[in-house]
Amino acid sequence: MFEKVLVTGGSGFVGKRLRLLKPDWVYMSSDDCDLMNMKDIKNYLNKIKPEAIIHLAARVGGIKEASENQSDFFYKNSLININLIHAAYQANIKRVLSCLSTCCFPSVNETYPMVEEDLMVGEPEEINECYSYAKRNLYIQSKWYSREYGLNYNTFTPSNIYGPDNVFDLNKGHLISSMIRKFTEANPGSELTFWGTGKPLRQHIYVDDLAKIIVLLLEKHNTNHPIIVAPNENLSIKEIIDVCNKISGKNMKISFNNYLDGQYRKDGSNKRLLDIVGDFNFTSFEEGLEKTYSWYQKNKES
Ligand code: NAP
Repeated sequence: MFEKVLVTGGSGFVGKRLRLLKPDWVYMSSDDCDLMNMKDIKNYLNKIKPEAIIHLAARVGGIKEASENQSDFFYKNSLININLIHAAYQANIKRVLSCLSTCCFPSVNETYPMVEEDLMVGEPEEINECYSYAKRNLYIQSKWYSREYGLNYNTFTPSNIYGPDNVFDLNKGHLISSMIRKFTEANPGSELTFWGTGKPLRQHIYVDDLAKIIVLLLEKHNTNHPIIVAPNENLSIKEIIDVCNKISGKNMKISFNNYLDGQYRKDGSNKRLLDIVGDFNFTSFEEGLEKTYSWYQKNKES
C-alpha cells in the first residue's frame, strides 16, 4: 500500500472528488507547482517526497474549447506530461499512474467496443487532435520509462466524466454539465436546442466511481495497457437528454441543430479493467445524473 501519494490536478474536477475518498494524500494545484516549469517540479518533488504519483493535471476542455485552442492544448499538455514523468524518474519515484482519455482513441475503429490495443491504430478525431496526441505521447513515455528504467509508470483511459464539482460553464463545460445548466435556466415547456443530431453514442462515468477505480488501479495495475475506465451503459445523446428532461420535471421540447456531431461512437470495453479490479458496481446513468442535477441546484451561483 502506498502511503504518501501525490495527486497532480488536485484542484480539478476529478482531483476534488478523489480528495473526499483519500483526504490524507497530497493534492497539488498550479499554485503549488507549475508543471510547465521543470525547476518548479524538481523543487516540489524534493519537498514532498511522494512514494507514488497520480497524474491528473492537464489543460482540459469541452469540444468547443479544445477545437478552438489546438496549439495551446498541444503545447501545455505536452510540456506538463514530459516534465512530470522525467522529473519523477529523476526523483527516483517508482510508481506513476497517469490519466489519458478515450478521446485520444482512433476516430474510426474496425470494431466496437474499442480495446486497449486500438489506442494507436488510427488517427484521432481532428476536432481534438492536439489534446489526443499529447495524451498518446504520455502513454508512450510511460511505457518506455517503465521498460528502460524498471519502473511502474502506466496509464488509464476514462470515458467522458460527469458528476458534482464539474464546471457548469456553457462554453467551457462538457455535454452533461452544459446540459444540466441549460435545463436549469430554461422555462418549463419551452424549446431547448442541442448541437448535432443527438445520434452519437457516449459512455459517461460518474466521477465518484472513477475516484474509487483510480485508488484500485494505483495498487493493482502493473501492465503497460492504457486501461479503459468506462461503464457498461453507452447511450445516445438524445437518450441522455431525455433522462435529464425526466429528472428536471420541466417537460421541455427538445431539438437538434444537426451541426458538429463529433465521432459517432467511441465506446471502450471495460473487460481488462474488471480483470484487474474485480467486479465493480457502476452507478447507473440515471442515478448519477439525479445526484449531479441536484448538486448543481444546491451549488449554482444565484
Ligand atoms: P480540470 O478540472 O480541468 O483540472 C485540471 C487540473 O490540472 C487542475 O487541478 C489544474 O490546476 C491542473 N493544471 C493545469 N495546468 C497545470 C500546470 N501547468 N501545472 C500544474 N497543474 C496544472 O480537469 P479534470 O476534468 O479533473 O481532468 C482530470 C484528468 O482527466 C485530465 O488528465 C483529463 O485529461 C482527464 N479526462 C477528463 C475527462 C472529463 O470529462 N473531464 C474525460 C476524460 C479524461 P489549477 O486548478 O491550479 O489550474
